[in-house]
Amino acid sequence: MELIRTIEWMKQTARQARAEGRVIGFVPTMGALHAGHLSLVETARRESSPVVVSIFVNPKQFAPNEDFAKYPRAFDADRELLEHAGVDVLFAPAVEEMYPAGFRTVVNVEGLSDGLEGRMRPGHFRGVATVVLRLLEIVSPRFAYFGRKDAQQARIIRQMASDLALDTEIVACPIVREPDGLAMSSRNAYLSPSERRAATVLFRALSRAKEMIGEGERDAARLIDAMRRVLAAEPLAFPDYVEIVDAESLEPVTHLRKDSLALLAVRIGTTRLIDNMLIEFRDTVIHCSL
Ligand code: AMP
Repeated sequence: MELIRTIEWMKQTARQARAEGRVIGFVPTMGALHAGHLSLVETARRESSPVVVSIFVNPKQFAPNEDFAKYPRAFDADRELLEHAGVDVLFAPAVEEMYPAGFRTVVNVEGLSDGLEGRMRPGHFRGVATVVLRLLEIVSPRFAYFGRKDAQQARIIRQMASDLALDTEIVACPIVREPDGLAMSSRNAYLSPSERRAATVLFRALSRAKEMIGEGERDAARLIDAMRRVLAAEPLAFPDYVEIVDAESLEPVTHLRKDSLALLAVRIGTTRLIDNMLIEFRDTVIHCSL
Protein backbone atom coordinates (compact mmCIF):
# COMPACT_ATOMS: atom_id res chain seq x y z
CA MET A 1 0.00 0.00 0.00
CA GLU A 2 1.30 3.39 -1.00
CA LEU A 3 0.98 6.27 1.48
CA ILE A 4 0.43 9.61 -0.23
CA ARG A 5 0.53 12.93 1.63
CA THR A 6 0.35 15.52 -1.16
CA ILE A 7 -2.42 16.48 -3.54
CA GLU A 8 -0.04 16.69 -6.49
CA TRP A 9 1.21 13.13 -6.02
CA MET A 10 -2.32 11.79 -5.44
CA LYS A 11 -3.48 13.46 -8.67
CA GLN A 12 -0.49 12.12 -10.57
CA THR A 13 -1.08 8.57 -9.26
CA ALA A 14 -4.79 8.75 -10.15
CA ARG A 15 -4.02 10.15 -13.61
CA GLN A 16 -1.68 7.25 -14.27
CA ALA A 17 -4.24 4.65 -13.13
CA ARG A 18 -6.88 6.16 -15.40
CA ALA A 19 -4.43 6.26 -18.32
CA GLU A 20 -3.96 2.51 -17.81
CA GLY A 21 -7.73 2.10 -18.09
CA ARG A 22 -8.14 1.15 -14.44
CA VAL A 23 -11.26 1.86 -12.38
CA ILE A 24 -10.53 3.86 -9.24
CA GLY A 25 -12.70 3.17 -6.17
CA PHE A 26 -12.54 5.69 -3.36
CA VAL A 27 -13.52 5.48 0.33
CA PRO A 28 -13.24 8.80 2.20
CA THR A 29 -12.92 8.48 5.99
CA MET A 30 -11.86 10.39 9.09
CA GLY A 31 -9.85 7.41 10.38
CA ALA A 32 -10.21 5.56 13.71
CA LEU A 33 -11.30 2.75 11.43
CA HIS A 34 -13.72 -0.03 12.32
CA ALA A 35 -15.60 -2.80 10.53
CA GLY A 36 -18.05 -0.25 9.07
CA HIS A 37 -15.26 1.46 7.18
CA LEU A 38 -13.77 -1.89 6.18
CA SER A 39 -17.09 -3.02 4.69
CA LEU A 40 -16.90 -0.01 2.34
CA VAL A 41 -13.35 -1.05 1.42
CA GLU A 42 -14.52 -4.62 0.73
CA THR A 43 -17.29 -3.41 -1.56
CA ALA A 44 -14.83 -1.11 -3.31
CA ARG A 45 -12.40 -3.99 -3.82
CA ARG A 46 -15.10 -6.05 -5.52
CA GLU A 47 -15.87 -3.31 -8.05
CA SER A 48 -12.71 -1.26 -8.47
CA SER A 49 -8.94 -1.35 -8.71
CA PRO A 50 -7.03 0.53 -7.46
CA VAL A 51 -8.84 1.24 -4.18
CA VAL A 52 -7.94 4.58 -2.60
CA VAL A 53 -8.86 5.33 1.04
CA SER A 54 -8.46 8.79 2.49
CA ILE A 55 -7.99 9.60 6.16
CA PHE A 56 -8.61 13.26 6.89
CA VAL A 57 -10.25 14.66 10.01
CA ASN A 58 -11.92 17.62 8.34
CA PRO A 59 -11.90 20.69 10.60
CA LYS A 60 -14.54 22.42 8.44
CA GLN A 61 -17.27 19.97 9.40
CA PHE A 62 -16.84 20.48 13.15
CA ALA A 63 -18.40 23.50 14.90
CA PRO A 64 -16.13 25.32 17.39
CA ASN A 65 -17.93 23.62 20.31
CA GLU A 66 -17.58 20.13 18.79
CA ASP A 67 -15.01 17.35 19.22
CA PHE A 68 -12.47 18.13 16.43
CA ALA A 69 -9.48 18.28 18.81
CA LYS A 70 -10.40 15.12 20.67
CA TYR A 71 -11.82 13.17 17.68
CA PRO A 72 -10.14 9.72 17.90
CA ARG A 73 -6.97 9.43 15.83
CA ALA A 74 -5.24 6.07 15.33
CA PHE A 75 -3.09 6.47 12.25
CA ASP A 76 -0.68 3.56 12.72
CA ALA A 77 -3.44 1.06 13.52
CA ASP A 78 -5.54 2.39 10.62
CA ARG A 79 -2.64 2.04 8.23
CA GLU A 80 -2.14 -1.58 9.24
CA LEU A 81 -5.86 -2.37 8.89
CA LEU A 82 -5.96 -0.88 5.40
CA GLU A 83 -2.81 -2.69 4.35
CA HIS A 84 -4.38 -6.01 5.45
CA ALA A 85 -7.64 -5.12 3.74
CA GLY A 86 -5.80 -4.91 0.42
CA VAL A 87 -6.06 -1.15 -0.10
CA ASP A 88 -3.75 0.17 -2.82
CA VAL A 89 -3.37 3.80 -1.81
CA LEU A 90 -3.82 5.59 1.51
CA PHE A 91 -4.24 9.32 0.95
CA ALA A 92 -3.65 11.17 4.23
CA PRO A 93 -3.07 14.86 3.62
CA ALA A 94 -2.29 17.38 6.37
CA VAL A 95 -4.82 20.11 7.12
CA GLU A 96 -2.53 22.73 5.51
CA GLU A 97 -2.39 20.63 2.34
CA MET A 98 -6.20 20.39 2.09
CA TYR A 99 -6.82 23.99 3.19
CA PRO A 100 -3.86 26.16 2.30
CA ALA A 101 -3.90 29.77 3.48
CA GLY A 102 -6.38 31.76 1.42
CA PHE A 103 -8.79 28.85 0.78
CA ARG A 104 -12.20 30.47 0.19
CA THR A 105 -14.64 28.17 -1.60
CA VAL A 106 -17.58 26.44 0.06
CA VAL A 107 -20.04 23.93 -1.35
CA ASN A 108 -23.58 24.14 -0.07
CA VAL A 109 -26.24 21.62 -1.08
CA GLU A 110 -29.34 23.65 -0.30
CA GLY A 111 -32.47 22.31 1.33
CA LEU A 112 -31.19 18.79 1.99
CA SER A 113 -28.64 20.26 4.44
CA ASP A 114 -31.14 22.25 6.52
CA GLY A 115 -32.97 19.64 8.62
CA LEU A 116 -31.97 16.77 10.92
CA GLU A 117 -28.16 16.86 11.46
CA GLY A 118 -28.00 20.20 9.61
CA ARG A 119 -30.36 21.80 12.11
CA MET A 120 -28.42 20.47 15.11
CA ARG A 121 -25.02 21.15 13.54
CA PRO A 122 -25.19 24.37 11.48
CA GLY A 123 -22.50 24.46 8.78
CA HIS A 124 -21.70 20.76 9.19
CA PHE A 125 -22.81 19.67 5.73
CA ARG A 126 -21.19 22.70 4.10
CA GLY A 127 -17.92 21.40 5.56
CA VAL A 128 -18.68 17.85 4.43
CA ALA A 129 -19.69 18.79 0.87
CA THR A 130 -16.67 21.08 0.51
CA VAL A 131 -14.15 18.44 1.57
CA VAL A 132 -15.82 15.64 -0.37
CA LEU A 133 -15.89 17.66 -3.60
CA ARG A 134 -12.21 18.58 -3.12
CA LEU A 135 -11.32 14.92 -2.45
CA LEU A 136 -13.31 13.73 -5.48
CA GLU A 137 -11.53 16.28 -7.69
CA ILE A 138 -8.14 15.10 -6.39
CA VAL A 139 -8.80 11.35 -6.66
CA SER A 140 -11.30 11.47 -9.57
CA PRO A 141 -12.65 8.00 -8.81
CA ARG A 142 -15.17 6.12 -10.96
CA PHE A 143 -16.97 5.04 -7.75
CA ALA A 144 -17.01 6.59 -4.28
CA TYR A 145 -18.40 4.59 -1.37
CA PHE A 146 -20.37 6.07 1.53
CA GLY A 147 -22.11 4.43 4.48
CA ARG A 148 -25.85 4.64 5.02
CA LYS A 149 -24.97 5.15 8.68
CA ASP A 150 -24.74 8.82 7.69
CA ALA A 151 -27.91 8.72 5.60
CA GLN A 152 -28.36 12.47 5.21
CA GLN A 153 -24.71 12.85 4.23
CA ALA A 154 -24.99 10.12 1.58
CA ARG A 155 -28.14 11.77 0.17
CA ILE A 156 -26.42 15.20 0.07
CA ILE A 157 -23.29 13.85 -1.64
CA ARG A 158 -25.40 12.02 -4.23
CA GLN A 159 -27.24 15.28 -4.95
CA MET A 160 -23.97 17.20 -5.23
CA ALA A 161 -22.54 14.62 -7.65
CA SER A 162 -25.65 14.85 -9.79
CA ASP A 163 -25.96 18.67 -9.68
CA LEU A 164 -22.30 19.19 -10.59
CA ALA A 165 -22.27 16.40 -13.22
CA LEU A 166 -19.35 14.69 -11.50
CA ASP A 167 -17.83 11.65 -13.22
CA THR A 168 -18.06 9.73 -9.94
CA GLU A 169 -20.88 7.37 -9.11
CA ILE A 170 -21.88 7.58 -5.45
CA VAL A 171 -22.46 4.14 -3.90
CA ALA A 172 -24.37 3.94 -0.60
CA CYS A 173 -23.49 0.88 1.53
CA PRO A 174 -25.39 -0.81 4.40
CA ILE A 175 -24.86 0.02 8.08
CA VAL A 176 -22.53 -2.35 9.92
CA ARG A 177 -23.55 -3.05 13.53
CA GLU A 178 -22.06 -4.57 16.65
CA PRO A 179 -23.59 -7.94 17.66
CA ASP A 180 -25.99 -6.11 20.04
CA GLY A 181 -27.19 -3.78 17.28
CA LEU A 182 -25.19 -0.63 18.04
CA ALA A 183 -24.14 0.95 14.74
CA MET A 184 -20.36 1.02 14.52
CA SER A 185 -18.89 4.49 14.88
CA SER A 186 -15.51 5.96 15.73
CA ARG A 187 -17.32 7.94 18.45
CA ASN A 188 -18.38 4.72 20.25
CA ALA A 189 -14.86 4.81 21.72
CA TYR A 190 -15.99 7.73 23.91
CA LEU A 191 -18.61 5.63 25.73
CA SER A 192 -18.09 4.39 29.29
CA PRO A 193 -19.20 0.78 29.95
CA SER A 194 -22.61 1.87 31.28
CA GLU A 195 -23.07 4.33 28.40
CA ARG A 196 -22.06 1.60 25.96
CA ARG A 197 -24.88 -0.58 27.33
CA ALA A 198 -27.33 2.32 27.12
CA ALA A 199 -26.24 3.09 23.53
CA THR A 200 -28.13 0.06 22.18
CA VAL A 201 -31.29 2.11 22.78
CA LEU A 202 -31.04 3.64 19.27
CA PHE A 203 -31.17 0.19 17.71
CA ARG A 204 -33.94 -0.87 20.10
CA ALA A 205 -36.04 2.17 19.15
CA LEU A 206 -35.59 1.52 15.43
CA SER A 207 -36.33 -2.18 15.96
CA ARG A 208 -39.62 -1.25 17.66
CA ALA A 209 -40.56 0.87 14.64
CA LYS A 210 -39.63 -1.98 12.32
CA GLU A 211 -41.82 -4.35 14.32
CA MET A 212 -44.79 -1.96 14.17
CA ILE A 213 -44.33 -1.44 10.43
CA GLY A 214 -44.31 -5.23 10.08
CA GLU A 215 -47.65 -5.29 11.89
CA GLY A 216 -49.06 -2.77 9.41
CA GLU A 217 -48.50 0.58 11.12
CA ARG A 218 -48.03 3.36 8.53
CA ASP A 219 -48.66 6.48 10.63
CA ALA A 220 -45.40 8.40 11.17
CA ALA A 221 -46.52 10.16 14.36
CA ARG A 222 -47.40 6.84 16.02
CA LEU A 223 -44.07 5.31 14.97
CA ILE A 224 -42.13 8.34 16.24
CA ASP A 225 -44.07 8.25 19.50
CA ALA A 226 -43.21 4.56 19.98
CA MET A 227 -39.51 5.21 19.29
CA ARG A 228 -39.54 8.13 21.74
CA ARG A 229 -41.05 5.87 24.40
CA VAL A 230 -38.24 3.33 23.98
CA LEU A 231 -35.68 6.17 24.30
CA ALA A 232 -37.46 7.63 27.35
CA ALA A 233 -37.09 4.31 29.17
CA GLU A 234 -33.30 4.64 28.99
CA PRO A 235 -32.15 7.07 31.72
CA LEU A 236 -28.79 7.84 30.05
CA ALA A 237 -30.35 8.74 26.68
CA PHE A 238 -31.31 12.29 25.64
CA PRO A 239 -32.75 12.50 22.13
CA ASP A 240 -31.89 15.45 19.85
CA TYR A 241 -34.43 14.34 17.26
CA VAL A 242 -36.53 11.38 16.16
CA GLU A 243 -37.93 11.83 12.65
CA ILE A 244 -39.38 9.98 9.70
CA VAL A 245 -38.65 11.65 6.37
CA ASP A 246 -38.97 11.01 2.67
CA ALA A 247 -35.75 9.28 1.56
CA GLU A 248 -35.34 11.62 -1.45
CA SER A 249 -36.44 15.05 -0.17
CA LEU A 250 -35.62 14.42 3.52
CA GLU A 251 -38.89 16.24 4.30
CA PRO A 252 -40.99 14.83 7.16
CA VAL A 253 -43.78 12.46 6.13
CA THR A 254 -47.05 11.88 7.94
CA HIS A 255 -47.81 8.52 6.38
CA LEU A 256 -45.46 5.86 4.98
CA ARG A 257 -46.21 5.52 1.29
CA LYS A 258 -42.81 5.61 -0.41
CA ASP A 259 -39.16 5.08 0.48
CA SER A 260 -38.55 6.77 3.83
CA LEU A 261 -35.94 7.05 6.54
CA ALA A 262 -36.47 6.84 10.28
CA LEU A 263 -33.60 8.78 11.86
CA LEU A 264 -32.45 9.33 15.43
CA ALA A 265 -29.82 11.46 17.10
CA VAL A 266 -29.34 10.75 20.77
CA ARG A 267 -26.91 12.05 23.34
CA ILE A 268 -25.53 9.45 25.74
CA GLY A 269 -23.51 11.38 28.30
CA THR A 270 -21.39 13.78 26.25
CA THR A 271 -21.38 11.49 23.19
CA ARG A 272 -23.79 12.16 20.36
CA LEU A 273 -24.85 9.08 18.38
CA ILE A 274 -26.90 8.83 15.20
CA ASP A 275 -28.62 5.88 13.59
CA ASN A 276 -31.31 5.27 11.02
CA MET A 277 -33.41 2.71 9.22
CA LEU A 278 -34.26 2.77 5.52
CA ILE A 279 -37.90 1.87 4.91
CA GLU A 280 -38.23 0.70 1.30
CA PHE A 281 -41.32 0.00 -0.74
CA ARG A 282 -40.73 -2.89 -3.13
CA ASP A 283 -43.95 -3.32 -5.12
CA THR A 284 -46.45 -3.92 -2.34
CA VAL A 285 -43.90 -5.24 0.15
CA ILE A 286 -42.31 -2.91 2.66
CA HIS A 287 -38.75 -3.66 3.73
CA CYS A 288 -36.93 -2.15 6.70
CA SER A 289 -33.09 -2.33 6.60
CA LEU A 290 -31.69 -2.54 10.09
P1 AMP B 1 -16.29 8.64 9.07
O1 AMP B 1 -14.89 8.17 9.22
O2 AMP B 1 -17.10 8.53 10.32
O3 AMP B 1 -16.39 9.98 8.39
O4 AMP B 1 -16.97 7.63 8.07
C1 AMP B 1 -16.42 7.37 6.80
C2 AMP B 1 -17.44 6.58 6.00
O5 AMP B 1 -17.72 5.36 6.65
C3 AMP B 1 -18.76 7.33 5.84
O6 AMP B 1 -19.25 7.14 4.52
C4 AMP B 1 -19.64 6.65 6.85
O7 AMP B 1 -21.01 6.69 6.55
C5 AMP B 1 -19.11 5.22 6.79
N1 AMP B 1 -19.47 4.51 8.01
C6 AMP B 1 -19.21 4.89 9.29
N2 AMP B 1 -19.74 4.00 10.16
C7 AMP B 1 -20.35 3.05 9.41
C8 AMP B 1 -21.09 1.87 9.73
N3 AMP B 1 -21.32 1.48 10.99
N4 AMP B 1 -21.57 1.13 8.70
C9 AMP B 1 -21.36 1.51 7.42
N5 AMP B 1 -20.68 2.61 7.06
C10 AMP B 1 -20.17 3.37 8.05
